[in-house]
Amino acid sequence: MFDNIKECRAFGISRLCAAEAVRHAVRTQAQCRIRQSLAAFPFSFFYPQPHFWKTIAMNLHPEVDTAAALACDAAGNWAASAGARRAALLDGLAEALERDRAALVALADSETHLGAARLNGELDRTIFQLRGFAEVVLEGVPYRTVIDEAVAGMPPAGHPAMVLARVPLGPVAMFSASNFPFAFSVLGGDTASALAAGCPVVVKGHPAHPRLSAAVAELARQVLVTQGLPEGLIGHVDQDSYEAGIALVTHPAIQAVSFTGSLGGGKALAAAIQSRAQPIPFYGELGSVNPMVVMPQALEGKVNECAKVLAMSMTQGAGQFCTSPGLVVLLDSEPARQLVDELGRQVDQIALHPMLSDRIQHGFEAGVSALSSSAEVQVKTARGVKEGATTGFVGVTTASAFLNNEGLRHEVFGSSCLCIMASSVKEMAQVLRAIGGSLTVTLWGVDSDSEENRLILRAAQNLAGRVLLKGVPTGVAVTRAQHHGGPWPSSTQPLFTSVGYAAIDRFLRPVALQDAPDWVLDRKGIPV
Ligand code: NAP
Repeated sequence: MFDNIKECRAFGISRLCAAEAVRHAVRTQAQCRIRQSLAAFPFSFFYPQPHFWKTIAMNLHPEVDTAAALACDAAGNWAASAGARRAALLDGLAEALERDRAALVALADSETHLGAARLNGELDRTIFQLRGFAEVVLEGVPYRTVIDEAVAGMPPAGHPAMVLARVPLGPVAMFSASNFPFAFSVLGGDTASALAAGCPVVVKGHPAHPRLSAAVAELARQVLVTQGLPEGLIGHVDQDSYEAGIALVTHPAIQAVSFTGSLGGGKALAAAIQSRAQPIPFYGELGSVNPMVVMPQALEGKVNECAKVLAMSMTQGAGQFCTSPGLVVLLDSEPARQLVDELGRQVDQIALHPMLSDRIQHGFEAGVSALSSSAEVQVKTARGVKEGATTGFVGVTTASAFLNNEGLRHEVFGSSCLCIMASSVKEMAQVLRAIGGSLTVTLWGVDSDSEENRLILRAAQNLAGRVLLKGVPTGVAVTRAQHHGGPWPSSTQPLFTSVGYAAIDRFLRPVALQDAPDWVLDRKGIPV
């Protein structure tokens, strides 16, 4: 199963890891045989305890093993591939998605209910970022080096010739997201950035859109075959089980993991990764409340307009965005109270489409029910089900209640927004500090330089990876200056972004080459 250990080591998997890969394969094959033998027994003859089955099942994932082994086989050559080769693959994948657009969007809609308009837009973005990463590779970004010429003399001023190169990490396990069936799934930004960096990818499909995942994986396979590339460059595991995910992230061939999902799921995967003989980087995006800070200046004569924009943003896609605004922080005043009332009215008018999965619907209902039943929260929406569609939730509380009650600070994934009335700008900043970490903070009404606006901007920058000074947080542009990440729990690695072209940095490891001869420098430090 996993016999190409030389290949494994050629792109950086250590001797320890390669040996562990063999043990993993042998163990898996042995367990397969055990299970097959057990299955042959009559049920009444041998009945193991449930924990026994669990132990067996934990390492019984031939699909995971095969995908990881094929990725490992493909990794060495891909790590050494030229920019033109990588760009041709990325462009080929974009072209294939475009060619099959109508069928893919229809399939995605049937599984997710997100609607053709949203899904076409998401597919546009997915194609755009595949092509964008192709350009990034052609510009030579993953091959860039930093050169320090030798300096004669004694250290510290004198030093040898140093060149800083970057090498691909190796096979990446990628967990598709439920809420972005294209842009954060099989051929989404994680896959595009990993391939651009020179890493194969093994995708764990999401059970909210299994048929779409399989169709896109098959499309990718055909592109690989047409281009004469190994199928292991884009592997796909479509098993709907936590164990399959754990088996994937603990597989010795896997060298990094990217994930978008729940805090609980992210913590479970992080713990499994830490238990490996060789822990690896885990790029998780786990949960974000995305506060909107509305300063009094923003409300002058524009209460209804602000409420409308907010209602649209929080109900878009039934609120199933990692950037959906879940908190609105206001300075207590008559216009602020009008905004909250109007927001509740507006949200009540908007019927939401069904949520992506029962798991997400239940999570939303539980979150809203906890907020509604809190004595400190005044509910501003009718909340219920209208003509088969769920409606959103708006509530209001005080800053002091928010600061004293940790339960009010959790993300409620869906169209839910808690408004917080503060008695001073200082208290608004305290509210931001209490949140901990968020992908975004949006500031309205900070257009002029003032002591108070600086205080709020500082608090926002300390809290989030992206600070918007206009507009709404839903919608994340794919650019070079984008940062989609932030302090825990919004992401596990606040130094890195999962959206935009800097996402490639997650999969490239720096190597300093000291006194390298010309032939090494000519190859940008990549010897294969
Ligand atoms: P999820 O439950 O975290 O599942 C995401 C992936 O992680 C799935 O493939 C799932 O496996 C796997 N997983 C989850 N728990 C695991 C565990 N304990 N061990 C191993 N693997 C595990 O996320 P979801 O299904 O997308 O939605 C549920 C909640 O996630 C939402 O209500 C929301 O709170 C949050 N969410 C957040 C974001 C964000 O951007 N921050 C995006 C989407 C969802 P299976 O395939 O076997 O189910």
